[in-house]
Amino acid sequence: MPDYFGAGMRLYLDRLVDWDEWLRWQRGDDVDVAAERGAYQTILKTAASLAESFETRARQNWAAEAQLTEDGGAESPPHIREAYDELRKAGLLCLTVSEAYGGYGLPALLNGIVLEMIARADPSLMMVVGLQSGAAIDVEQYGSEEVKRAYLPRFTSGEVQGCMDLTEPQAGSDLGGISTRATELPDGSVRVDGQKIYISNGGAEVHLVLAREADTFEASKGTTTGLSLILVPRHREDGRSNGVRVPRLERKIGIHGSATCEVVFDGSIGARLGEKGQGFRAMLNLMNSARLGVASQALGLCDAALHEAVTYARARKQFGKPISEQPLVMTMLAKMVVNTEAVRALLYRAYGLVDRKQAREAALQRGDATEAERRILKEELERDTVRIRPLTPLCKYFATDVCNDVTRDAIQVFGGIGFTMESDVGKLHADSLIMTIYEGTSEIQASFALREMGKGALAVVFQEVRSELAAMADDPVRGELVARVVAIMPSIDEALKQLFADPQYALLRAKLMAEMVIDVIAACELLRQVGADDSRLDLAASWIGRRMLAAEHTSRRIRENADGLIERHTRVLAQVASGSA
Ligand SMILES: Cc1cc2nc3c(=O)[nH]c(=O)nc-3n(C[C@H](O)[C@H](O)[C@H](O)COP(=O)(O)OP(=O)(O)OC[C@H]3O[C@@H](n4cnc5c(N)ncnc54)[C@H](O)[C@@H]3O)c2cc1C
Repeated sequence: MPDYFGAGMRLYLDRLVDWDEWLRWQRGDDVDVAAERGAYQTILKTAASLAESFETRARQNWAAEAQLTEDGGAESPPHIREAYDELRKAGLLCLTVSEAYGGYGLPALLNGIVLEMIARADPSLMMVVGLQSGAAIDVEQYGSEEVKRAYLPRFTSGEVQGCMDLTEPQAGSDLGGISTRATELPDGSVRVDGQKIYISNGGAEVHLVLAREADTFEASKGTTTGLSLILVPRHREDGRSNGVRVPRLERKIGIHGSATCEVVFDGSIGARLGEKGQGFRAMLNLMNSARLGVASQALGLCDAALHEAVTYARARKQFGKPISEQPLVMTMLAKMVVNTEAVRALLYRAYGLVDRKQAREAALQRGDATEAERRILKEELERDTVRIRPLTPLCKYFATDVCNDVTRDAIQVFGGIGFTMESDVGKLHADSLIMTIYEGTSEIQASFALREMGKGALAVVFQEVRSELAAMADDPVRGELVARVVAIMPSIDEALKQLFADPQYALLRAKLMAEMVIDVIAACELLRQVGADDSRLDLAASWIGRRMLAAEHTSRRIRENADGLIERHTRVLAQVASGSA
């Protein structure tokens, strides 16, 4: 088994996902479940072997930058183009696209695992593949039949790549500031004019551009209404340029091989995805799959750093024994493992929900369910939709935060050599730093999650967690750990109530709230893993031992320190302004 196809992944593939149920919803009763599962194994083994084979080249060429091309585009360095070509030949692109358009219609979980493997070898390559996959998902969901037929087979064959163009100089976290203009032409196509910045893989053929409709431009300024999502190719059908240009590339701290581009649209002609003026919704869909994609990228990088650190610590001797046996190093390594596995637990749970939701939608659309079955499917679909909303930003927030820490700790484990270019861990840390920023910063993720929780999603999420925990409560192996998790949940509910009494205070504490909720959901999923494989008990026990105490402390902090905090922060900051801090 390739090293990249780890036990945590296999656990979900072999034991924790009910593939029989999923496949029947997704494809109907005629599906050959055993054959599908066999194909999933083969795909993941192939992806693992290929990704593993990219690792050395990626580390050796880490500093190689993307370049501008003569035709006004940009391209990745040669090692990334070669690896992309190998993935293309192996048919490992855009795995979720349905068979009707040349894909495999694979579950999001499998796609996420493949992205994770690629990111472990090369996070810059993962950007190319991940954006292509995300763009294809959005085209499939929102494109007209004509657009789908024109682009999806080219995405799955790897002929064209994709990117998403949101950010502008004045519109970063606040996309209400977008001023790229979309003007509808008499034939129904749309002309796009404007400038985007920081566009990853901005030399791609297919751009999904968020732009403001010209006829409501002034009235909608400063808001996310009146925005449309437009598919803009770099070339027109006759092969001429479509006025899409990359005038410059950013020089960055990490992910050098990923082209980060300024992109100018000058009279570029495109086609709307979804309704006119409803582009923000369509883009949110793309961003949500991209956010889970970034979480997979972060998890892959955690795996890479962890393997480097553990291998080094077992080989490096000081004071007559391997440093892995020094209690403080051992603690650091164990925490890296547990946090990485907690990310996996949360993320795979989220992918599982996305897949269940999509399969239920497919079952409802096929129309072969009875009235009673349809009613249940609809209710479950609604509940899953509510659960996914906070879980997606929580995954992105948590995975990228842990990734920063794990890669940083890997440097510490390496000691002096970790700070030199002789080792690879510094490269991994440098690559990790962007992940808390793009696809919405950590602050934006925490605020989103808080908003969803405030709208009632926390109750739905906790209801599911409570019923899963109740089912494990009598288990002699897990019972005591379950009780510790159950005991903390009322104080989280209390903290939330207090937060929503004061929206400003709530925003101030959004990250703390996110962390407590993550603590509980990850604990529940780690315990679920133990039910399938009791060798995971130590992981669950370590997480629960550490994080339930932390959650208790955090909940008290939220409940007891509310008064005057904003005013105090303001006074503290005033000290910096006066130069006396
Ligand atoms: C390497 C790289 C690749 C990128 N790829 C793409 C891409 O492919 N497509 C694309 O469209 N964009 C891309 N971006 C842009 C990226 O998504 C933005 O940089 C990011 O969303 C933050 O926007 P900003 O840089 O304008 O920061 P700002 O929005 O100015 O934020 C600065 C700080 O203020 C905080 N902040 C802002 N508003 C709030 C708030 N309401 N509450 C709490 N905190 C807040 C932020 O969290 C952050 O810490 C990329 C950026 C980089 C560096």
